[in-house]
Amino acid sequence: MKNVLVTGGAGYIGSHACKALALAGYTPVTFDNLITGWRDAVKFGPFEQGDLLDRARLDEVFAKYKPVAVMHFAALSQVGESMTDPAKYWRNNVMGSLNLIEAATDADCRHFVFSSTCATYGDQDNVVLDENSVQLPINAYGASKRAIEDMLVDFAASAGLQHVIFRYFNVAGADPEGEVGEFHQPETHLIPLMLDAIDGKRDALTIFGTDYDTPDGTCIRDYVHVCDLVDAHVLGLKWLEEGRGNRVFNLGTGSGFSVREVINHSREVTNRDVPFNEGARRPGDCTKLVSGSRRAVSELGWEPQRSNLNQMIADAWRWHQNGHYSA
Ligand code: UDP
Repeated sequence: MKNVLVTGGAGYIGSHACKALALAGYTPVTFDNLITGWRDAVKFGPFEQGDLLDRARLDEVFAKYKPVAVMHFAALSQVGESMTDPAKYWRNNVMGSLNLIEAATDADCRHFVFSSTCATYGDQDNVVLDENSVQLPINAYGASKRAIEDMLVDFAASAGLQHVIFRYFNVAGADPEGEVGEFHQPETHLIPLMLDAIDGKRDALTIFGTDYDTPDGTCIRDYVHVCDLVDAHVLGLKWLEEGRGNRVFNLGTGSGFSVREVINHSREVTNRDVPFNEGARRPGDCTKLVSGSRRAVSELGWEPQRSNLNQMIADAWRWHQNGHYSA
């Protein structure tokens, strides 16, 4: 049996990754401190509670399971919060990842799949964002992820750590079978907040900024379905097993949608009104983040199945109505 250590396996993307790994014949071992994750979300493979800042605990888990690879999702990921409390991001994301990378190489586990972000590119007007684009993050979240990417490159040179880095655009949707889904507390992401507003679980959605340099004044993002995203991770793992070397892949569809467009699609999919109002910009937000790369498709053989916006909203809506974890 091939164990894969999944940090953040109790979180949104990590829990979907555990399901994809289990379906592909691996045993996902979730390592999570449950600060933003949910015990109920760990449905595939064993669970080990622990914090990346606790190196001894990491060593224990590596010794117990002897994982063939690490998939590293555990991170704080709120752009807004990273601007008001950058220390939290540098400590948890960067120091935590350093512990993990060191523990992995010390345990002779040299295949590493890393969850990075398009936020590492920053705000680049009229630039096609591909894997060779310069990385100029404008918020501490993106900066922390870029630092971890740099760390992986250094450990590849010094300790032979083989890595695949995925730079995600905006992840959305949920497992269509409803076993796992998206549940953040507090919720900060556009689609789940909008679904809450639609069914009255919270007040109207606030659009963060209507004066951006885009056709309708609101920010543009490239949304990718969480199930497609985690499928790419399994392909990334196989890529490493085949000895194909260190590589960076963007994961996005290449189509951008503004906040207003997402609202319109949600109205269409749910057949309900979307209560919203217009507010100020959120510090740290980029105007437009859309992937300009097909590398994951051409090199990894990635075939996104569910990444059209209406499908993503429909899957998120189904989970929103039927699925939940206990807080
Ligand atoms: N957004 C918004 N209102 C909200 C939450 C998000 O207008 O209550 C916007 C946000 O400014 C960004 C887009 O929706 O342009 C996606 O934000 P999200 O937090 O979902 O993801 P991010 O792009 O920050 O990773």
